Amino acid sequence: MPDLDRRPRRTFAVISHPDAGKSTLTEALVLHAQVIAEAGAVHGKAGRKGTVSDWMAMERSRGISISSTALQFAYRDHVVNLVDTPGHADFSEDTYRVLSAVDSAVMLVDAAKGLEPQTLKLFRVCARRGLPVITVINKWDRPGRDALELMDEIESQIGLRPTPLTWPVGVPGDFHGVLDRRTGGFVRYTRTAGGATRAPEEHLTAEAALAAAGEDWERASEEAELLTADGGDHDQSTFLAGRTTPVLFASALLNFGVAQLLDTLLELAPAPGPTPLAAGGAREVDADFSAYVFKVQAGMDANHRDRLAYARVCSGVFERGMVVTHAATGKPFATKYAHTVFGKERSSVETASPGDIVGLVNANALRVGDTIYDGVPAEFPEIESFAPEHFVSARVIDAGRYKRFRRGIEQLDQEGVVQVLRSELRGDQAPVLAAVGPMQFEVVAARMETEFHAPIRMDNLAYSLALHTTPEHAGTISGFSGVEVMTRSDGTVLALFPDKWKADSVRRQAPGVVLEALPVGG
Ligand code: GDP
Repeated sequence: MPDLDRRPRRTFAVISHPDAGKSTLTEALVLHAQVIAEAGAVHGKAGRKGTVSDWMAMERSRGISISSTALQFAYRDHVVNLVDTPGHADFSEDTYRVLSAVDSAVMLVDAAKGLEPQTLKLFRVCARRGLPVITVINKWDRPGRDALELMDEIESQIGLRPTPLTWPVGVPGDFHGVLDRRTGGFVRYTRTAGGATRAPEEHLTAEAALAAAGEDWERASEEAELLTADGGDHDQSTFLAGRTTPVLFASALLNFGVAQLLDTLLELAPAPGPTPLAAGGAREVDADFSAYVFKVQAGMDANHRDRLAYARVCSGVFERGMVVTHAATGKPFATKYAHTVFGKERSSVETASPGDIVGLVNANALRVGDTIYDGVPAEFPEIESFAPEHFVSARVIDAGRYKRFRRGIEQLDQEGVVQVLRSELRGDQAPVLAAVGPMQFEVVAARMETEFHAPIRMDNLAYSLALHTTPEHAGTISGFSGVEVMTRSDGTVLALFPDKWKADSVRRQAPGVVLEALPVGG
């Protein structure tokens, strides 16, 4: 591994609706970082297995470290960490946690589809976390929507003012390149066979552009002026404050606009900064080492049956082998087995800097949201648990396996796979599992069966809303029919309602009770 330590970091995630091109863009970014010479081999879902081995080989030969959670590569004297957000269509809390580990996000939008439900939800999480967002309008090589119309949609649907850095020359599907709004020049794009090699980009002056692209150039120039007149120029402070979003037009498949995205990330996206502490104040990046766990995973691989905690380095330098303190328990935690992980293969990470992600093996004590530190103590705030909207009661099918059932549920709870609610009424035999997205239940069922050998039965409960209350009011609230009060494993007391009308009616009939909304995911 080369010494990547002193280089500046950019740590970001790509958020998108499935099929907008996140995987294609990820691969194209790596290509443009001059790591993959030949993109043809790695495009498309069928080809992705090839990508894994290519990456593994690259990891060894070029010193990039890659994991299924975070991909790290060098670009123009910087180190870029691309943290993966869960790809499935359903929405779960994992995404929120991943977004707590990055400094900015790239919102990928399909030019033909515009903003899709998942894009909107993910964007709201970014807004909530105050993350600066760079927008990439992808698939501009295919017929799609009008560019100005897409800008209007971003502004009206998510309240973020778009400030395009580039503007397309030619309609979607007949795309010649982009007008660089900062230089006024034309970045001409030449289509190569299947986008197999790095797309050649030529930089032309405005005069040359007019000769080359004629009417399309004129139209792009006019629209770009309209944007300026309308306050659509990039402003760094409103971007960092999450009020405006720089926009780029791209075709990830044809590798166009991808270099511009990387350059934009380096130039505009924030570097890792101070991390707020639970007790107030913040941990500066050059303070003693600290990191927080944003993801815990177990049972990934039969050869490595242990628990892996992914931590984002917040301050100081991580060195493998250091013994750090687990803030929640005050106990020492040895980092002898710190790894980067990709699928089944792991390789040791020797050092890591603020913004980097390390995988800690044998991390049985670590939970999502935990802090580890060296030297001066630090504790970061808990990552929020979001309002669950789906509820089932779970019990083990074979009563003889109850012990395994209990262990499994506890483990999945600690990993944050699902929220676990209990009450005296239901007892320990049948806890309630609560999820933000129903796919979380499928994960629970599968893992209980294959990993803990305790198949479970789940029965849907007719609740769709959980509100926070206090133990003193539990009795009053549970006196209403169709309402139940349970305690989440983090100690939060939750009142479960079939719908918001029922909650409103309880509020009217028992005006003194505490019923507060939990943070909402989407
Ligand atoms: P993900 O689900 O967001 O990871 O999307 P993928 O990267 O798997 O892309 C979904 C589909 O869109 C694939 O068939 C890609 O080849 C295709 N695709 C991605 N980017 C582009 C693009 O820029 N242009 C075109 N025409 N197709 C694209």
